[in-house]
Amino acid sequence: MGEKKVVIIGAGASGLMAAVTAARNGALVTVLEHMESAGKKLLLTGSGKCNFTNRLLLRGSGRIKEHYHGDPDLAASVIERFDAEDCIRFFRELGVESVNRSYPYDDGIYVYPASMESRSILRALLSECERLSVSFVYNCHISSVNESSDGRWGIHTDLGTFDADSLIFAVGSNAAPRTGSDSSIYPVIKSLGHGFMPFLPALCGLRPEAGALDELKGVRAEAIVGLHVYSDNDMMLYQSRGEVQLSSEGISGVCVMDLSGHASLSLKRGYDTILSLRFLPWLSDEELKAYVKRQYESHPDGPLDLLSGSLPLRLSEYIMRRSGSMEQTAELLRDLRFRIKKTADFEHSQAAGGGIPAHEIDSSTMGSKLKKGIYFCGEMVDVDGCCGGYNLQYAWSSGYVAGMAAAVI
Ligand SMILES: Cc1cc2nc3c(=O)[nH]c(=O)nc-3n(C[C@H](O)[C@H](O)[C@H](O)COP(=O)(O)OP(=O)(O)OC[C@H]3O[C@@H](n4cnc5c(N)ncnc54)[C@H](O)[C@@H]3O)c2cc1C
Repeated sequence: MGEKKVVIIGAGASGLMAAVTAARNGALVTVLEHMESAGKKLLLTGSGKCNFTNRLLLRGSGRIKEHYHGDPDLAASVIERFDAEDCIRFFRELGVESVNRSYPYDDGIYVYPASMESRSILRALLSECERLSVSFVYNCHISSVNESSDGRWGIHTDLGTFDADSLIFAVGSNAAPRTGSDSSIYPVIKSLGHGFMPFLPALCGLRPEAGALDELKGVRAEAIVGLHVYSDNDMMLYQSRGEVQLSSEGISGVCVMDLSGHASLSLKRGYDTILSLRFLPWLSDEELKAYVKRQYESHPDGPLDLLSGSLPLRLSEYIMRRSGSMEQTAELLRDLRFRIKKTADFEHSQAAGGGIPAHEIDSSTMGSKLKKGIYFCGEMVDVDGCCGGYNLQYAWSSGYVAGMAAAVI
């Protein structure tokens, strides 16, 4: 058999990794992209700095699944094959040195290119594609795909028909659709018989009832964040810790974004969804009460700035306006609640839950269990990760596994 022809739809993070891997394994690779250039979302990552992996994602560490939602088993399966060390080595070999960053209340080690510029990562991938003679076709709109009698695939586009032995879909989710990941391919994927779980915003801010934040705009404070999901007979509590940011746009910050996928699902199911904030999280409940008592003892009339030695003034004023007593002050510091009405929209989300159901995919190859020669990678599959480089590492790993299988099986 001659050179295997692999077509990849989507020139984002996972598609580019699949292209490099397939070409390194001897395939003739063509990437079809409907935007005018590659990696538009990749360029936005990490506020332009690209947090491209996390050193917690190590083979055999037993700590991979805890950072993923949707199907964490699939995420773990591909990351076990291409982990954070592999990823850091892969980019180093392409000339990209990395630097580590750590943040309070997060035991993860966030990894960035030493340049602190996402374009370093994109440039490395595109240069390697060029070296391997990967072809790119931009502004290419796919209308349908069909299987021929000899088991090969025809990809019909406004720029002609491309044929392939293996076809990899790497089209992303609905998050930040301006970057090209806009779900436009899903009718084609459904025509192959695959299911599709509607996307829901993840890694985004949360919006409480109108007016709830009017007095708190601009406040940033450290808190333990609780997301309480009240289903018919049950209450689920998800927790995180970090800096909470309150603005006219809603409640945000990494610790809130990490819980937002659960909030999306809860709201979609029509469940009561409550966010609680526990301020001064380094104090125990007893220490918190003692702190409030001390403050009242020195200022018995409970002025609005009573807590401003420890909290932003605006937050102190907000709490004191609602406090009729010392006990109420301590309780509001311990458990300030907001009913969540919606999440931010896809345009303001960094990831999305939903997509192709993981049970339709063989995680050892990322191949379709329904159609031979079809592969999926990246966020279009029902996997989404926490903030901290977890989404890109999953994109690299699933792209690597799909690219390898598409080229050699
Ligand atoms: C603002 C922002 C910041 C982020 N920061 C980080 C971070 O620091 N670290 C991290 O780990 N993750 C981060 N993420 C998440 C991360 O970028 C994604 O998880 C990752 O890019 C997903 O890769 P992908 O290949 O699945 O999809 P994408 O990167 O979205 O690529 C999909 C590609 O497919 C193309 N495409 C879509 N439909 C078609 C079609 N019909 N025909 C042809 N081409 C098509 C798109 O144009 C696009 O080029 C961030 C996301 C955003 C939005």
